[in-house]
Parts: sequence; structure tokens; C-alpha cells
Amino acid sequence: KLTRWDSKDESKRLPIYQTKASLIQAVKDSTFLVVIGETGSGKTTQLPQYLFQAGFCKDGKIGITQPRRVAAITVAQRVAEEMQCTLGRQVGYQVRFDDCTSQGTVVKYMTDGCLLREILADPVLSQYSVIVLDEVHERSLNTDIVLGLLKKNFSNPAQATKGRSFPLKVVVMSATMETEKLSAFLDNCCIFSIPGKMFPVTCTFGSAIGPKDTESTTYVKEIVKTTLDVHTSEMAGDILVFLTGQSEIESACDLLFKKAESVDYRYDVHDQTVEGLLILPFYGSMPTDQQRQIFQPPPAGIRKCVVATNIAATSLTINGIKYIIDSGFVKQLNHNSRVGMDILEVVPISKNEAQQRAGRAGRTSAGKCFRIYNKEFWEHCMPEYTVPEIQRTRLTAVVLTLKCLGVHDVIRFPYLDCPEERFILEALKQLYQFDAIDRRGRVTRLGELMVEFPLYPGLTRAVLKATSLGCQDLLLPVAAMLSVENIFIRPGDPDKQKEADEKHRALSTKSGGMNDFATLLTVFQSCKSSDRPSAWCKDNWVHWRALKLAFSVETQLREILLRLQRKDFPIETFDGNKSELLRWCLCAGYFTNVARRSVGKVFCTMDGNGCIVNIHPSSLLSEQKAELDWIIFHDVIVTSRVYIRTLCPIHYEWVKDLLPKLHEVNVYELSSVARE
Ligand code: ADP
Ligand code: MG
Repeated sequence: KLTRWDSKDESKRLPIYQTKASLIQAVKDSTFLVVIGETGSGKTTQLPQYLFQAGFCKDGKIGITQPRRVAAITVAQRVAEEMQCTLGRQVGYQVRFDDCTSQGTVVKYMTDGCLLREILADPVLSQYSVIVLDEVHERSLNTDIVLGLLKKNFSNPAQATKGRSFPLKVVVMSATMETEKLSAFLDNCCIFSIPGKMFPVTCTFGSAIGPKDTESTTYVKEIVKTTLDVHTSEMAGDILVFLTGQSEIESACDLLFKKAESVDYRYDVHDQTVEGLLILPFYGSMPTDQQRQIFQPPPAGIRKCVVATNIAATSLTINGIKYIIDSGFVKQLNHNSRVGMDILEVVPISKNEAQQRAGRAGRTSAGKCFRIYNKEFWEHCMPEYTVPEIQRTRLTAVVLTLKCLGVHDVIRFPYLDCPEERFILEALKQLYQFDAIDRRGRVTRLGELMVEFPLYPGLTRAVLKATSLGCQDLLLPVAAMLSVENIFIRPGDPDKQKEADEKHRALSTKSGGMNDFATLLTVFQSCKSSDRPSAWCKDNWVHWRALKLAFSVETQLREILLRLQRKDFPIETFDGNKSELLRWCLCAGYFTNVARRSVGKVFCTMDGNGCIVNIHPSSLLSEQKAELDWIIFHDVIVTSRVYIRTLCPIHYEWVKDLLPKLHEVNVYELSSVARE
């Protein structure tokens, strides 16, 4: 009699199990292999285990990349459970700022960004016997770059062993992508299809949401209404709702919770008793123990309703889903040429993506997909396909990485889809502005140092400046705090909000006022030096989880810096006022983000775009706009207006000599050297 849950038995029911032997053989037979299979067929969790069982870990590790950090962590947890080992031993994961691996780790899940860093340290990946690039259809920037690098370095059998004692195997996995294109890119390699059965999904369009209804509150309301309709009128089966991000998901869940309470829980739908609704939010920055609930089957008679971001579209599969409710929107990082920066914005999904979402309902039986938007929205607002990230975001960091890998000609690098040339030139220009490359496009000493940091290049530049001046203790905490999300608690409830605002203002005052960066430093230091840091956080309306992460990030950044300082690190001196040191260092990296007060309370950016910007209400400086003149800012949010967030005032003299750099670079010069 089985007393414990047996995952082995369950995994034998997955479609991939039928192809196990031939799949292992296919990997043995080739350098590159494309594996395609429906989401949920078992690619991510099973294939690495098959390769492990087949002895691929004798010489080296199996590395599996994921575009999303939650996916890397969740999947590693699952596989560790299935292999009955402690996470971090045989099976582990590594994501930015969180390394859960050990000497004995042979099955390693990681983000594509982490693998890119490993290639930087060891271009032939000598520790690995197999690299599995997963979720390639997502077309994340780092996956695309890694794909190009692997093609370049291992394109023929002789190369596959170059600098290594045994050949590297590369498996590229995708749920939907045009496989011929991938195969053609990788030397016409074999395509292995995992046959999966899919049940039909009926899709219906709504009537309430049209091309003009792009307000979050509008479609969230409609989502809640549709969800309750489905809950009260459809047969048993779980619901998966697609929304765009944390705050939206939280508010949808709150609304659902309130409204579902007023629904009479005991009713029969077509002779099947559904007694209640279990509402579960699901987004990337959620605590991992909470995430695990998503995969548990609901209690008998209870319908599970998962309200998720796009992560549930292909990266992670939740069993038992029969109904999809699709908002039609997704949060996406796009380059905004008006502002000259990358901005996280909510946009309509592509038709292809909508089909992918609908498909989540047809895994175990016939399903239904309720699109809350109408046919007009579908036809006029939704593009056919999602544009690959490489064609819509800033390339500064990856271009520096390529240059450091000796890829001088970044225009003719083997891209699966080429980015527009102006995006590459823009990246070169920015690297030049940060002194990371010289006029001839060669990486400078500073560039070699910069590439070591997993941070926004401007922020790295500021950290290096501070280190040269011996005041890294000011910048490292700030850099760490800027790398974690959701530091300040915003309760929403008006009374509590007032209390929180007061505490936050007090922290700003304590830091000297008028400087969001300094406030972050104060929060970091005050919490760290407190006897009871978690109580300190509670008291000051600060998220303890975010602070804990920031402490760990700061330690890791410090370690990188120590490693680099052992080599010849540039030394500088500062003869200004000590209290201005933090802002002075920030200017070295943020002179690309300078704005000047134009009229009233409106600012104008100085990078040549001359974009009109407003101070975001979350900034502790938003009440003091009138006193500000020149400022630098960390990031931008675009709604109906353009808002800048996390900022501080500066003196014009500090950037006077840097600002001309924004205009001096001749892109044509860079363009011609880029092609040399
Ligand atoms: P694919 O990569 O082909 O999309 P996966 O290997 O991710 O497929 O998933 C295979 C199966 O394992 C799915 O049915 C999924 O529901 C299940 N599964 C994956 N991760 C978990 C988890 N953390 N908890 C429970 N079930 C899981
Ligand atoms: Mg997968």
C-alpha cells in the first residue's frame, strides 16, 4: 500500500514519458537538438531527469535556463522533490542574487541571465555536459543572446569539443515557436516533437471591454464579474485568470473575495456540487511558500481560482484548469523613444499569446476560455505575434557583455531575429557615455569592471565611482535597495496610509530630506543596526522581506567589488563637501537621467529628448517640487503622464562637464567601427 505520494508514478503519465528512450538517444546523437512539446508535457521537469539517469552527469552538469526567476526556483523545488533530494544538493537553482547550489549540484536550473554571466567567466562552459535552453518561444533578450553565442561557439562537432575534454550538448526547448526557424538557425539540427494530446477549447469574446477600455480598474471589474459568472454557472473545474501584475492581482482577489462571500455557496451546477471558491493570487515576487499552494488540488467540492500573471501561460503548469478568463493585457518592458528609456508598461497581448493562454484550459479535458474583450479589441489592438524582447528593449548591458566576450562586430552577431541597428548604436553610444568603451568601440578597463555587476549600467558606474573615491559604503546599500522591489508598505486604507506616509516622511527627514536615494540608505542602515530589524520594519511600514533581500544583495555586490579591487582599481579623490559625496557619485551614472525644472512643477529631461516629466507621488520629494531646480532620477513610469521616481536634487556644476557627452558621440563613427 502506498503511504506517501509517489511522484514517479505521476510523472509516468506525462506525454514525454512515452518518448523517453528515443529522446535520450536524440540528445546523444547530436550537438544541437530542438525539442517541441505542449506546455505541461513534461519538458522542463522530466527531460533533465532523463538525461541524469542516462549518465549525462558523469562528466559535467546539466544546466537548464528559464527566462523567469520564479520558474527557475519553482521547477528546481519540484524536481528536487521528485528526485527525493534536498534542494541545493544534487538539484539546485541560481537566479540573480540567490544561489542555491553546492559542489554536488549536477542538475542546475538558472535564469538565462545567470548562464550569460557564466559564459562570460568561461566561454566554453567546461563544467557542463548539457545546456538546455528552455522556454525559447518567450524570446527573452538573454535567451536570444545565449542562443547566438552557443551557435557561434559550438556550431560544428569539432567546435563542440574546443577547449573542453568532452563535447557539449545543447537542447533548445519550446512550446510554440516555429521549429523550422530554430532548426535552421542551429545548423539544421533535428527537431524532436513530443506528441501531446490537447482537448478542444471553446473561446468566447466579451462585450464590455473595447479598444478604449485600457484602464486597469475597468478591466479588473470586468474580470471579477466574469469570474463570478463562470463560478456560478459552469460545471466543476478550476479557473485560471490572467492579469498583469501584483497590485492588480491583489485588488482583483480582494474584490473577488468580498463578492464571492455574498454568493450562496451551496448550489448545484449541472448535478455537480460546487461549494465554494478558493482564491489564490500568483505572481513572480510572491513568497515561495505561498506559491506552492497554487499546485495543490483544492479540497473536495471547492473550485480553485488562480489569479496570475503571464507566468502561468507557459512557464508553469497548474493541473485541473478547465476555465480561462483572459484580460487581454500583459506587463511588458518596452523601449520608449519619447523618454529615451525602457519602461515597464501594460499593453494588449498578441493574438498568438491569447491562443497560448486559452490552451491552458485544454490539458486534461475540453475547456472554455472567456475573453473579456470584444472582437473589435481583438482586431484593432492585438498584434499577431509578440515582438521579441531584443527588438524592443535597450541593449546596453548585452552589448557590453558581447564586447567583453570578444564579439567586436555586434551588428553582425548571429541573432535569431536582428534588433534594429539604431538600438545597437544607441547601446554603443550609452556605453561610450559611461566610459565602458572607447571611441573605437573597444572595451575600456572600466568596461571590464562594469560587466561584472548584474545591475543597470548607470548604477554600476556610480558604484565604481564611489569605490574609486573610497565611499562604496554609501553606494552599495543604495544599489542593493534599488535592486529589490516593494520596500515601502502602502496599505491603501486611508487611515493606515496616513500613518505610513508619516513614518516614511520621518525617514526622509532623518536622511537629511530632499533625497530619495539617501532615504533608501537611511532605511537600510537603520534597519541593519536595529536590535530587532523585523520589528523596526513593521514599525516603519517597510517590508521586512524586501530588506532581508537587500542585505543579501549588498553583501553579494560587496563580494564582487572585493574581487575586482584586488586588481588595479582606479583611485580618485573628491575635494567637495563630504555630505555631498553620495549625490556626486550618483551623478557619474545618472547624468543620462538629468532633468531641469521648466515651468511650475514640471521638469524637462536633458538627454536630447527634452521630455516633459512629473515627480511621481510616491517620491518623498513630490511635495517640495517648487524648491528643486536640477535633479537626477532613477526610473520612469508612464501612465497618462510621464512620471519620474526615486530622485534627488543636484548642482548643475556636477554634471556640466558630463552633459556634453550626451550629444558629442557621433553615432556614424560608432556605426563604422562597429562593423570593422
Ligand atoms: P512543460 O515544461 O512541458 O511545460 P513541466 O515539466 O513544467 O512541463 O510540467 C509537467 C507536469 O508537472 C505538469 O502537469 C505540471 O502540472 C506538473 N508540475 C510541474 N511543477 C509542479 C509543481 N511545483 N507542483 C506540482 N506539479 C507540478
Ligand atoms: Mg516548461
